[in-house]
Amino acid sequence: MRTVEEYFGENVFNESVMKSRLPKEAYKAVKEAIDHGKRLTPEVAGVIANEMKQWAIEKGATHYTHWFQPLTGITAEKHDSFIAPQDDGKVIMHFSGKELIQGEPDASSFPSGGIRATFEARGYTAWDPTSFAFIKDGVLCIPTAFCSYNGEALDKKTPLLRSMEAINKQALRIMKIFGKDDVTSIRTTVGPEQEYFLIDKKMYDQRKDLIYTGRTLFGALPPKGQQMEDHYFGVIKPRVQAFMKDLNEELWKLGILATTEHNEVAPAQHELAPIFTTTNIAADHNQLTMEIMQKVARKHDLICLLHEKPFEGVNGSGKHNNWSISTDTGINLLDPGETPRDNASFLLFLTAVISAVDTYQDLLRLSVASAGNDHRLGANEAPPAIISIFLGSELTEILDSIVEDRPYGSKEKEIMKIGVHVLPRFPKDTTDRNRTSPFAFTGNKFEFRMLGSAASIALANTVLNAAVAEVLSQFADKLEGAGDFETALHDLIKGEIIAHKRVLFNGNGYDDSWVAEAEKRGLSNYKTLPDAVKHYLDPKNVELFTKHKVYSEVEMKSRHEIFLEKYCKLLNIEYQTMSVMAKQDILPAVSAYASELASDIAAIESAGGSADFEKETFAEISADMNAANKSLKALNKLIADCDAIDDYEVLADKIKDEMIPAMDALRANCDKLELETSAEYWPFPTYGELLFGVR
Ligand code: ADP
Ligand code: MG
Repeated sequence: MRTVEEYFGENVFNESVMKSRLPKEAYKAVKEAIDHGKRLTPEVAGVIANEMKQWAIEKGATHYTHWFQPLTGITAEKHDSFIAPQDDGKVIMHFSGKELIQGEPDASSFPSGGIRATFEARGYTAWDPTSFAFIKDGVLCIPTAFCSYNGEALDKKTPLLRSMEAINKQALRIMKIFGKDDVTSIRTTVGPEQEYFLIDKKMYDQRKDLIYTGRTLFGALPPKGQQMEDHYFGVIKPRVQAFMKDLNEELWKLGILATTEHNEVAPAQHELAPIFTTTNIAADHNQLTMEIMQKVARKHDLICLLHEKPFEGVNGSGKHNNWSISTDTGINLLDPGETPRDNASFLLFLTAVISAVDTYQDLLRLSVASAGNDHRLGANEAPPAIISIFLGSELTEILDSIVEDRPYGSKEKEIMKIGVHVLPRFPKDTTDRNRTSPFAFTGNKFEFRMLGSAASIALANTVLNAAVAEVLSQFADKLEGAGDFETALHDLIKGEIIAHKRVLFNGNGYDDSWVAEAEKRGLSNYKTLPDAVKHYLDPKNVELFTKHKVYSEVEMKSRHEIFLEKYCKLLNIEYQTMSVMAKQDILPAVSAYASELASDIAAIESAGGSADFEKETFAEISADMNAANKSLKALNKLIADCDAIDDYEVLADKIKDEMIPAMDALRANCDKLELETSAEYWPFPTYGELLFGVR
C-alpha cells in the first residue's frame, strides 16, 4: 500500500514537479510569474506546455481543459484532446504554449449580465500560474481566469485576484510605515470549513425536490431530530467512514490539504476542513472539494447535499471562512505578537478589519446571499442576517481602555500607549469562544461564518479583501508623514474604534433581543438576497470596487443583474417543482388513502362496528386536502403572474414578498397531511428515512 506521503499531490503539476522537469530558465520564469506576477514569454510558455503535456500523458491524461469559475457558481470545463493528426494517418500528442496560456471558449451560454452581447460570443480564458495545473479523470486541468473580448471579468476568480492585489498594495504601505522593508508581498489566507449532508441514493432518487432543487420542499419533522445532540462529534458510521477515506485520498492526490472530518450537529450532517492556504488557491480547492465530494459519494451509493438548507427545521450547512493576512516573511498580521511594535501593527490591522466590516456590512451580507442561504441565516443554529464582530472579552477590554484613555485591567497603573507598551497576552483558546457570531476573531484570524455551503468562497473573500484594502489605504494616507507616529497611530485607532464600535458584539447572536439591539445600533439586517442586492450599486460600494480596480462599473452592473437572475431562476425551479409534487404525488396519494378510509367506514359500519378512527381521520384529511388544494391553486395563480414578469428586479421582490409565503403555506398543508396519512400511502421517503437512512 502506498503511503499518503507517496501519493500526496501526485496529480498536481506543482513547484517541485516543475523544478525537477523544467529547464532551469523556464522554471525561474514560472517562479517569477507565481511570486511576482511577471508575464511569461511565448517561448517559455511553449517549453512549459510541452513538459506539462508530457507529464500529463505519463499519468494517463488524453485531454486538457481550461478550468474556470463562471458566474454560475460551479466550475466549467470543455475538454480538448491532445491529439493532432499527421499525414500518415497517425496522431501525435500536441499541446502548445498558446493553448496553455489562452483559450477561447464559446462564452454565450455563461451568464454575463448583459456585458457580452450574444453576437460577440467569444470569451477568453487566461492561465493563472499561481494555481497549479492538475489531472482529474484523465484530463489536464489548467486553472484560468475568464473574461470577455473587452477584458471584463466573466468569472469569480479575476476579481478575487484583483482584490488580493489591492490588499497587497495597501498592506505593503503599512509595512513600510512600520519599517518592515524586508516584506515584499502580502497575501490573504483562507481555510474554509465545509459542511454537507450525506443521504442514501435510493431515497434521493425518489424525491423530485432533491433531484431538481437539492433541498426538500416538503417534509414533516421526524420524532427524533437533533434534540439529543448525539450526532455532533459522534462516532462516524462505517459507510460514512469509507466515504471519507476515499474522499481524503482523492483530495490528497490533488494536493488539497483536507485535514479534519467530523459529524456535525444535525443527523446525517458532516464537516470537512482543510489546512489554510493562499486565498485564490483555497477558492480553487474548495470548488474541487465540493465536486469531488459529490462524485465520491455516488461511488458509495450516497448523495452529498451541499445545499444550505436541505431540511426545514434542521440545521443548515455553511462554510466557515477562516481568513487572515500574511507577509512573505512569514508574519501573520492578525497575530498579536510579542513586542510593542508588533502589538501596534496587530491593533492597526484589527482596527482596519473592524472598520471595513462595519462600513461594508451590506456588501458582506450580499456576498453570502443566495436563495439557499436565505433559508439558513437566522434559522436553527445559524447566525442571523446581521453582520457583527465578536472579539472576546479580553480584546474588547483592551480596545475599551484605548477608547477611554484608562489603564487596561486592574493591575496596570499606566495607561497603555500603543507602540510603547506590551499588550497583555490573551489566551488563544478563550473559553468564551463565541459560536453564534457571524464574524469572530479567533486568536490570529477571523472566522466569517455566514457563507453558504454550496457557494464559491470567491465573492466573500473578494469583498473582504477589497474592503480591508480600502481602510488600509485611508490609514496609510493618515500615517505616512505623520510627525509623532505613536500618537498618530493611537489617535487613529481610538477614532476608528469609536466610529465603528457598534459592529462589535460579544453576546448571543442567535438571541431575538440581538435583532432589536442591532436595529437600535443602526446595523443593517437584510434578510434576503433581494433586500441585500438593492445596496450593491450604492455609490460607496461602486467607489470601493472601482477605486481598487476590483470591478469596473460595467462589471458591477452585470453582477447586479446576475444576482437577481440566478435567484429568480432557482426559485422558479422550486415553485414549479412544488406545484408538480403537490398535484401529482401528494394530493393523489392522500386522496387514495381517503377513499380507502371511506370504503372502510362503510364496510365497518355495515358490519355493525363503529369506525371512529377512520371517520375522524377522514374528516381531518378532507379538511386539510381542501386547504392544500386552495393553497396549490393560489400558488399556481402566482406562478402564472410571475411568468408574465420579465424584469428580474420586480420578479425577485414578487417572489420574496408573495411567492415564498405561498410556498410556505402549501408546504404547511402538505406536511400536516403527511402526519395524517397512512405511511404506506406516502409517495416518497420522509425526513426520518432521509436523515437516519445511512446506516
Ligand atoms: P476551529 O477550532 O474553528 O476548528 P482551527 O484552528 O482548527 O479552528 O482552524 C480552523 C480553520 O482555520 C482550519 O481550516 C485552519 O487551517 C484555518 N486557519 C488557521 N490559521 C489560519 C490563518 N492564519 N489563516 C487562514 N486560516 C487559518
Ligand atoms: Mg470553525
